[in-house]
Order: sequence, then structure tokens, then C-alpha cells
Amino acid sequence: MVKKSTKWLPLKRELVGLRRAFTGRDQALMRQSSRLLDLVSNKAPWALARFNDGEVKAMLSSNVGEKTARDDQEINQSLVDKLNWAFNQRSDNLWLGLPCSVCWPSERAYLGGKIEKNYPYQTLAVVQTNRNWDDWITKLPPLLKNRSVVWVSGEDQDLNHLKSKVGIVARDHWKLPTTNVWQSEYKKLSEKYNEFETGDIVFLSCGPLATVLAVEWFLKRPDCTFIDIGSTFDPFTRNVWHACHKKELPRCIGCN
Ligand SMILES: [Zn+2]
Repeated sequence: MVKKSTKWLPLKRELVGLRRAFTGRDQALMRQSSRLLDLVSNKAPWALARFNDGEVKAMLSSNVGEKTARDDQEINQSLVDKLNWAFNQRSDNLWLGLPCSVCWPSERAYLGGKIEKNYPYQTLAVVQTNRNWDDWITKLPPLLKNRSVVWVSGEDQDLNHLKSKVGIVARDHWKLPTTNVWQSEYKKLSEKYNEFETGDIVFLSCGPLATVLAVEWFLKRPDCTFIDIGSTFDPFTRNVWHACHKKELPRCIGCN
């Protein structure tokens, strides 16, 4: 885990974060979950790129050479540049997930200063987990019946388990290395946007590479859906249960 950063005027920003939490702003961002599930239900294309603490860390040149994504991804300058590029993109139904104000006040303050208050497609980076996790693992799979699903993830994810445990069937699995996937795969994958079929739902679970590709591919293929799904389905694809899955995360007025 990345330690909570204390770089940016921590006290003031913690207070701003707490105010945001108590006024319900983050709760409202978490409730956008139902809009996202409705988009799937209505077969409307959309994309979600999640910028949590690890991505914010990888947006800063000062962290080049350090690791993020549970130490699976070394940060280099091209990752820094592309994550910043991705966060600056705006489009219909291009959803950007922000860090929770209470859990990550400094990271939220950093990104909050870079996004227009009235951009309508904002949510929290943990919109599919924490207090919404049950919704995503129970309501999403039935919506994917008769849809064409592509799964882009580390090669350690087993889609047979995903099928038998939650009923999600992918027509294709793009398997990637589990470490430093940015360095080895980004350039190749960047060109592969023309391999999708109209209406495809593409899940990406490959660290900050997923965040960049969700934006990049959606801008080139607005006829498909690209979901930066993170570790939401880890218990079913590789039997890895994080605190959010085991319900061991502390209660948070913003996100959990
Ligand atoms: Zn929180």
C-alpha cells in the first residue's frame, strides 16, 4: 500500500475533504454507480478511468523510478505524461474517478484542482468497490448476458472462475504480464483499438495502464464501453481477497 501523502498543506486539505464528506459530495459521487450500471443496461457506450492514490503518485515526475500498483508497476516519465494527458480529456460519458476526500485528502485536492466542478462525468475511483462492491458483483453480471465482453488483464487472472463464480463470459481474454506492463505493452495495445466490435464491453484490470487505455480507446472507439475495473473481480479471477472484499475496510463517510 502507498502511504498517505502529507505533501500538500495537509491540515487545510483534510478540512476541505471532511467538509466535502459531511456535505455528502463524495456520497453523491459514489451513488453515480447506479448511473453507470444503467448505461450498461441501456447499451449506451461509456468509459471509466479511475485515478486513485496510486495513479496520482504516478502523475508526478518526482516519483519517476518509484513503484505503484501494489509495487507491480515502476513509474517512468511516459507513464507520468500519459496519465496527466488522460486526466485532461473530456467527452460525453467519459467518467473520471477521483480519490475519496476523506481517505486521500491530498491526492483529491491535487486532482480536484485540475477538473471543472461542473464536469458531469465524475465519480470516485472506488465506485465499483467499498460500499458498492455487492452491487457490482451481483447486478453487473446479469446485464452482460448476450453482450460481447473482452477482458484485458494480467495473465494470472482465470476467466473460467469468473464464469463459474459470477457468470461473466468473455469472448476474448487479452493476457498481459503482471509486472511493469506499462513499459512492455502500452505501445502495442495503444494501436489495437480497431480490433473491437461495435457494442463491445472491454474490462481493463492492469494497473495505471488500464487508466490510460480506457480514455485513449474510448476517444477512438466511442461505440464501445471501456471499464477500468481494477481489482473488483479479483476474488473470482485469481482468488485474491483484499480488505474491500472481506469487508475489513474501515467505515468512511465518503466511500465506505
Ligand atoms: Zn473514503
